Amino acid sequence: MLSQKEKTQIRAVLAEELRRLSKKGESALSYSMNHERNIGRDSIDESMEEELFSTEMRLHDREKFLLGKINKQIARLEADEIDVCEDCGEAISFRRLLARPVTTLCIECKEQSEREEQATEQAGRAGGFAELGDSGDEAKAPAEE
Ligand SMILES: [Zn+2]
Repeated sequence: MLSQKEKTQIRAVLAEELRRLSKKGESALSYSMNHERNIGRDSIDESMEEELFSTEMRLHDREKFLLGKINKQIARLEADEIDVCEDCGEAISFRRLLARPVTTLCIECKEQSEREEQATEQAGRAGGFAELGDSGDEAKAPAEE
């Protein structure tokens, strides 16, 4: 169980994460607006456009994911559960929480889950690119003929 002082510190770190995320959200939005204006320009390579677009989508997904994690951690903090590993119920050290404020796992469970995440991410990325490639070819085909 964390002390009040430790909880206050974690709360400040989480608040800082939220601020950083909202700044990122603003820059992603302005990027998105620039992106809209650039559509249709001859000087922009279509495949590059697609790549930028898919990167942007992944960024948004990542931000949404992170925002969800921060909100969840704030709830866990208020419920005095923030230092309890979600998987095995062991304590997560205060030092670890300060360094990784959105973590809900102890170091052992985290290492295990990272190995699983990497495998899933690689599979997901391959699937995503295949989909984009298919639709891109269809859209481009009439213009090339
Ligand atoms: Zn654990």
